Amino acid sequence: MSGTTVSAGSGIHVETGGRRFLLDPKGPVKGALAFVSHAHVDHVHVASKGELVIASKETRDLAKARGYDLGQTVEEVEGVELLDSGHILGSRAIRIGDELYYTGDASGRARAFLGKCRTRKARILVTETTYGSPEYEFPQTAKVVREVNGLISSSYDRGRPVVLMGYPLGKAQLLSYLFPSWEPLFYHQSVAAMNEVHAEYGVRLAAAASFDPAKDADSLPNGPWVMIAPLSNGRGKLMAHLRRKYGAVLVAFSGWAVRRGYAASVGADYSFPLSDHCDYPELVSLVRGVSPEVVYTTHGFAKEFAYDLRRMGFDARPLSSYQSTISEF
Ligand SMILES: [Zn+2]
Repeated sequence: MSGTTVSAGSGIHVETGGRRFLLDPKGPVKGALAFVSHAHVDHVHVASKGELVIASKETRDLAKARGYDLGQTVEEVEGVELLDSGHILGSRAIRIGDELYYTGDASGRARAFLGKCRTRKARILVTETTYGSPEYEFPQTAKVVREVNGLISSSYDRGRPVVLMGYPLGKAQLLSYLFPSWEPLFYHQSVAAMNEVHAEYGVRLAAAASFDPAKDADSLPNGPWVMIAPLSNGRGKLMAHLRRKYGAVLVAFSGWAVRRGYAASVGADYSFPLSDHCDYPELVSLVRGVSPEVVYTTHGFAKEFAYDLRRMGFDARPLSSYQSTISEF
C-alpha cells in the first residue's frame, strides 16, 4: 500500500488502499468506515441511520448503557484487525493491513481482569500519548493495592468509612475488582450500572449494595464502610456531605496522582497512581513493539513525546486532534 494519508479533525482520518476510515469520530461520518475504540464518552459516537461502525460488542453494550447508540456494529472487516488495547473492557486498537496501527487509549500493563495492549508491526503508528512525559512512571499495581488496603484498614480502626473514587467506567471496575473484601461495600449507582455490563461479560465483581445519592445519602451506616464512586471533587455536595456526616476519607485514583498535590487539587484526602493508560516507559515499548517507519502522537504530551521519539531515531510528529495536520508520503 502506498499514498496513505493521516489527518486529524473531528476524529482521525485515514485513507489507505482505496478505503477511507474515520477513527474515533467526533461527529457524523460520511463516506468512511467509522471505528470506535472504546466506550468512554470522549470516544463514543452516535451512528447515523444505516451506518456501519467497527467496534467490539463490549463497546457497543457499554455505550448503550450510557445512552449512546452505536447502531450496527461489526468486529470483522476484511483487511482489518482489532486488538485488545488493555484500556477498559472491550477497548480495541485497530490495524489496517500492515500499513497502519491506531492504539485508541491503551494500557501497557495487565491489571485485574484487563490485559495489556497487544502490538503488531505496522508501517505507520498513531498512538495516544496522555502520559508521554518521563515523570509519568506508574508503580506496580500490587504496591498500590497494598498501600490502599493499609489505608482502609487504619481508617476502619478509627471507625471511618472510605470512598474510593475513579472514573465510573474502567477505573471503578478495577477498584471493585481489587478491593472486594471490605464490608459493608457500596457501589455508587453509576458505578453499579457499568459493573452490571461487566458481569454480563463474565467479569466477576463482588456483590454490593447500590447507592443512590438522591435517596441514600442520609441512610448509610454509622461506622466504617467502603464505597466505590465516580471521581468527583471532594468539595462537591455529595462528597462534602459524606465527609461531614460520616467522617468519610476520600481517596482518588488516577495516573495524574504521580504529581504532587493531585489529591488536594481534586479535594481528596489521598490519591494513588492507578491508570488505564500507558506510562512513559510503556509508551516507548509500545512504539518499539509496533516498530513503525512513522509515528503520529495524539493527546497529552503529543509534541514532547514526538520530540523524544525523534531523539530515539523514529520519524515522529504530533497529530493534534483539533488542529488539522495533513501528511502524505
Ligand atoms: Zn478512554
